[in-house]
Amino acid sequence: MTSPSSGAGICPRLRRVKIAVARETRDGESRVALVPELVGKLTALGYDVAVEPGAGLHALIADEEYAGAGAVLDADAVVDADVVVSVQPLEAATIRRLRRGASAISFLPTATEQPTVVELRDAGVTAHAVELIPRISRAQSMDALSSQALVSGYRCAIVAAGMLRRFFPLNMTAAGTVQAAEVVVLGAGVAGLQAIATSKRLGAIVRAYDVRAAAAEEIRSMGAKSIDLDLDTLEGAGGYAREMTEDRAARQRELLTPFIAAADALITTAAVPGRQAPMLVTAAMVEQMKPGSVVVDLAAETGGNVEGSVAGEVVRIGNAQVWGGRNVPSQMPGPASKLYAQNVVNLVTLMTATGEGSAEGGGTFAPDFDDEIVAGSCVTHDGAIRHEPTRAALEGAS
Ligand code: NAD
Repeated sequence: MTSPSSGAGICPRLRRVKIAVARETRDGESRVALVPELVGKLTALGYDVAVEPGAGLHALIADEEYAGAGAVLDADAVVDADVVVSVQPLEAATIRRLRRGASAISFLPTATEQPTVVELRDAGVTAHAVELIPRISRAQSMDALSSQALVSGYRCAIVAAGMLRRFFPLNMTAAGTVQAAEVVVLGAGVAGLQAIATSKRLGAIVRAYDVRAAAAEEIRSMGAKSIDLDLDTLEGAGGYAREMTEDRAARQRELLTPFIAAADALITTAAVPGRQAPMLVTAAMVEQMKPGSVVVDLAAETGGNVEGSVAGEVVRIGNAQVWGGRNVPSQMPGPASKLYAQNVVNLVTLMTATGEGSAEGGGTFAPDFDDEIVAGSCVTHDGAIRHEPTRAALEGAS
């Protein structure tokens, strides 16, 4: 397959850096790491873009749209690529096809993907995990955790509204009044706030709780009521939540019970970085909910905020239907891909150097490892594991 830069040139010129978009192969993944409308951003920086055929299929993006935007469709796109972008970590077989020194940008949950990290190390690939990008203000435009959490939060509210066999909004009609649904949201980070905002837009009465001190104001700013349990707040490093002691967890569950019993829909989005999701709601608490109630547990995949929830399934607990989230951003692949692709393009832009020695178009791929975003997101480089907790877990004390 011919790339736009490989036509017969009179003068020898620098080989343009090639960015390959991998077709996702993992079960249930519908997103794609680059959308056609952003191809031009990369070519303007001086890159060639090659896309594996069918990469956008599940996000309803046809190959022709990539070609029309200036990308090359190539089943072997990754083989001589300088940078491979994907949503999920690359499969071992794909990693073995990359050239040594190539870079890979994707989600890469190091705790559960240790065999992938070993493959990347041994293949001499420089791997950047988007979830390790430090959450500093300069990196906000690259923050894929936030962009995908926003999609998840919206989806959770829509799922709850769709499953509930009653209106979210108050309806005052000539035939009488139908009261608004009551929604409780637990965890008011990026996903929780989006679930609150969406439930409010649909007209529900929303109450929410989070352990962080700043959350109460954020909840109120969305027009929801903040649940005050009169418990200590739990701030950890970087503005994230800390893990609860078992006593604190039990007390929190006890105090939340009446709020959950009164809710028509419960949406849970609580997480503690590096830990299993906290169990906030027992099956006994769900059993107190009214007939027809709905529970949406976004954390089902990482341990569950709700006892008994199952990722990717709807189970019945007492009177409630309990929906367990599984790769929730992938359930809205269009917007999730677009936002993720923008995060990736912004990261690649940060890693692009301009000036002398750069390829035609002005830029060349030259990540600056003194930059905290580049260094912080790097898992493997030059045959070594750079992410210290992962290195220690795999290779032992240094
Ligand atoms: P997260 O996904 O790690 O957790 C989701 C929410 O669950 C958090 O708000 C957390 O406080 C809450 N939680 C944890 N344990 C709980 C419990 N026992 N009960 C109730 N709630 C519990 O968090 P996130 O959405 O990624 O964001 C967390 C924080 O980071 C927020 O303050 C957010 O504003 C901030 N943030 C900052 C940036 C940035 O500066 N660039 C970007 C994104 C998020």
